[in-house]
Amino acid sequence: MKDELLRSKSDHLGKRREVDWFSLISVIGLLCFAPFIVFYFVMACDQYECSITQPVLDLYQEEATLLSIWARAPSFSWSAAKIYAIWVSFQVFLYMCFPDITHKFIPGYVGGVQEGARTPAGLINKYEINGLQCWLITHALWFANAHYFHWFSPTIIFDNWIPLLWCTNILGCAVSTFAFIKAHLFPTNAEDCKFTGNIFYNYMMGIEFNPRIGKWFDFKLFFNGRPGIVAWTLINLSYMAKQQELYGYITNSMILVNVLQAIYVLDFFWNEAWYLKTIDICHDHFGWYLGWGDCVWLPYLYTLQGLYLVYHPVQLSDAHALAVLLLGLVGYYIFRSTNHQKDLFRRTEGSCSIWGRKPTWIECTYRSADGGMHRSKLLTSGFWGVARHFNYTGDLMGSLAYCASCGFGHILPYFYIVYMTILLVHRCVRDEHRCSSKYGKDWKRYTDAVPSRLIPGVF
Ligand code: NDP
Repeated sequence: MKDELLRSKSDHLGKRREVDWFSLISVIGLLCFAPFIVFYFVMACDQYECSITQPVLDLYQEEATLLSIWARAPSFSWSAAKIYAIWVSFQVFLYMCFPDITHKFIPGYVGGVQEGARTPAGLINKYEINGLQCWLITHALWFANAHYFHWFSPTIIFDNWIPLLWCTNILGCAVSTFAFIKAHLFPTNAEDCKFTGNIFYNYMMGIEFNPRIGKWFDFKLFFNGRPGIVAWTLINLSYMAKQQELYGYITNSMILVNVLQAIYVLDFFWNEAWYLKTIDICHDHFGWYLGWGDCVWLPYLYTLQGLYLVYHPVQLSDAHALAVLLLGLVGYYIFRSTNHQKDLFRRTEGSCSIWGRKPTWIECTYRSADGGMHRSKLLTSGFWGVARHFNYTGDLMGSLAYCASCGFGHILPYFYIVYMTILLVHRCVRDEHRCSSKYGKDWKRYTDAVPSRLIPGVF
């Protein structure tokens, strides 16, 4: 019993030392299959016009072999490596050398030096928040190039998509391996390291909590936000340019995907300071899961809808397009308002108004690794009184809208909603497990007050 208690307490402090078999098998499975999944989807678009069943049928009917599929896939190229090296170096340059000035003249935007949440060891890190500025500069240059300079074609990303995949994999694996070695040899904060005793788990889920080089190069903030998320909108623009080049027009579905995903990306950068308080930064350690995921999984699989629309230029009926737009905007509204309510509530420690009323909450206490007792509050009004993760519900509605923009001809563009559902339900379970060990009986009082996780009365 005492062991149980110690284990559960150390769990939320990020010091768990035992890995159960299920976690281990999941980790090794992900490590082996995730790169294959990314390759499969991109290859299916390139060789099979986005059919994900045809490659399997071809293999089964001996129309193709694994080797012939592999041989047809564009391989690594030095020109793609050059493009990617310039891209990543440019993002590092913007991140490190341009302290934020946009917060000085954009009302309501929080940028510049900001504090993150308290780490398990009780540390509070400072971050240079300049993501919006980097996004704006990058996109201004992109448009300047497309309309004025013509240094490169706006289809450059699409044209090098598979060769770039090898480059992103190299960076993803290199950065995760570096983080793994760094955690053993020169961790940024040894107190915040989590060693489980299992090498695969350590590599995959990370050891260091906030690895940094120097005072400001924060691995999590950089790799999570850029190059992946800054690239997201550029990748979509490149797909749009390719559609124009191939067919001489741009479909309303392509515009919908570009607009809805651009809202999501801009929202991310507008709220980058808030993002410091989300699970990725607050609780996850930096390993292959984040490093490789940010470099490869995110740019390749979050942009599948745009890629699909290059091969299938779907023109939606007005009613369909309007329904998708509405679903996307309502989803975004729920996602943003829910996140905003928690942020406002935590920032003002409850001295605020939610839905026109004084908020209600549950008082909690918890202990950090240094033994100190801390107080916290769990909001029970606004969207947080509807369900315990209503922000995820909004996110899922938005994700469904991206997929539904592509019509119903193929299942490939629907991968995103399947993946997001698995990700967010798993995250929900993971987060609740952590909160339960952190807050103990106070968490139970909260789940009694707000019984549903995602959909009121259903789940
Ligand atoms: P949340 O923003 O929901 O944060 C969860 C944390 O908030 C908990 O660990 C707890 O932390 C605190 N908390 C929980 N309940 C309450 C409450 N009632 N009142 C106050 N605080 C509470 O989760 P995420 O960080 O996972 O997600 C942030 C957003 O990012 C979501 O909208 C999600 O949809 C989105 N997201 C998108 C992804 C994508 O790939 N597109 C991936 C992941 C997330 P504490 O210890 O501080 O109490």
